Amino acid sequence: MSDDVGEIDEIAEGFVRDLTESVREMTVRFLGPGRSSESVLALARNMLNIFDLTQERMAAMFPPSRPLACAKGCTYCCHLLVFTDAPTVLLMADDLQRTLAPAAQEELTARLAAFEEADYGLSMVPRPACPLLVDDLCQAYDKRPLVCRAQNALDVYQCLRKFEGGRKLVVAHDIPLIVWNAVSDGLSAGLAEAGLGADGTLELSKAMRIALETPDAPGRWLAGDALFAPARWSGAGGEHRMPGYH
Ligand code: SF4
Repeated sequence: MSDDVGEIDEIAEGFVRDLTESVREMTVRFLGPGRSSESVLALARNMLNIFDLTQERMAAMFPPSRPLACAKGCTYCCHLLVFTDAPTVLLMADDLQRTLAPAAQEELTARLAAFEEADYGLSMVPRPACPLLVDDLCQAYDKRPLVCRAQNALDVYQCLRKFEGGRKLVVAHDIPLIVWNAVSDGLSAGLAEAGLGADGTLELSKAMRIALETPDAPGRWLAGDALFAPARWSGAGGEHRMPGYH
């Protein structure tokens, strides 16, 4: 459900098209001839930076009708199913392997395994938190997926109701969701063009476990190894498309 900001669709349409095209071009460039593990990580880094910059500027041009309710330590959206893409998972795993102490890495791997084993399905409420959430903070906050960056709400009470299962949608500001879709579409098109589009959308916790447990995961993914196949999201209708949360 979106914050009604009427003319955004029309005004932003051309801009969004250009954004999708720029991300597609960038993806093809980074994953073209001579690509390496570092190019995958650099692609994901750039894509997340582009999202942050664009959504910040567009939100300044088209502000929400009232201030966002989102705040540090509020974690309702970390209790949703999280979907992402292979370059982002590879970047997050690389970052976690560099920044977490060995004991914390082991704890994370154990939480990911337990989460997968519990198999919470699509409809469980309240849903347990993402395994990357520790003490109400994301362990990979700077590298978190686009969907986590795009989540927002105007009324935290609606988030609480949704968390408890009493509500399906919350009112959110359009802009981050529009930018998320534009960047995701560009990435998907670029990956397909680079011959790396087979994964489509990935469920974060399963994909993260694979990325952390597979030696040289970026290199193997670039070589066409279907290492993320068990984490692919096919949705209820077999769609490889990010489900909208809001
Ligand atoms: S990746 Fe981080 S921000 Fe996203 S759901 Fe998990 S803990 Fe929350």
